[in-house]
Amino acid sequence: MSVFKTRTFTCPDCGAELEFDNYSSINADRRPDLRDEIIGRSLSLVHCETCDKEFRPEPHLNYLDYKNGVWIMAHPIYDIGHWDEDEEKATTLFANAYGENAPASAREIGSSLTPRITFGWAAFREKLVIKEAGLDDLMVEKTKLTILANREGNPIEAGVELRLINAREQAMRMMWINATTGESLQQFDIQRALYDSVVEGGAWPGIDEKLSAGIFVDTQRMVIEPTPREPA
Ligand SMILES: [Zn+2]
Repeated sequence: MSVFKTRTFTCPDCGAELEFDNYSSINADRRPDLRDEIIGRSLSLVHCETCDKEFRPEPHLNYLDYKNGVWIMAHPIYDIGHWDEDEEKATTLFANAYGENAPASAREIGSSLTPRITFGWAAFREKLVIKEAGLDDLMVEKTKLTILANREGNPIEAGVELRLINAREQAMRMMWINATTGESLQQFDIQRALYDSVVEGGAWPGIDEKLSAGIFVDTQRMVIEPTPREPA
């Protein structure tokens, strides 16, 4: 089931207290409208009537989409520096709910689910776009590495990520995005043939193992050195 609580959020622009529906769990099979809202970037969008601006508090929720075969632990972007411990926790959560530690009936469901962890709205949304387009997320990440190696003018800096925005028959729209603000820094299309060539090229020894060493399948795991959380 889908679970949400009404929470308050302080407008980062004017300081007004705003209310929004904060989801801790989404079942996209029962609520496909919520899935559409994630793709449409409107889930949890808060409009501040005082300053007339819109904001999206970061996601922190568990997403189940049996129809599309995906289970996602969606973390806020500010957790990404601790991706290793969050990945471990999410892996255990999945194992207990649908994996090796779950009852047989749940394992049966789990056998058709791919578990993933994401950080921030853009990465979360991207996993749904990939599933919808029938692509493979490891291959999408390898395509990004090809873009990083060959394309000029990539705005590479901390907090900036390359994300797939949509996939059409011939072209795939990519965006360099500020992962915290959601601001688009650059958008460009790549030929679908580039992705296909990555798929046909087979394994990249060393790279494949690194990218798919856990459920955080993202080039960011090769870039961001995780740090332990400060004790509370
Ligand atoms: Zn405001």
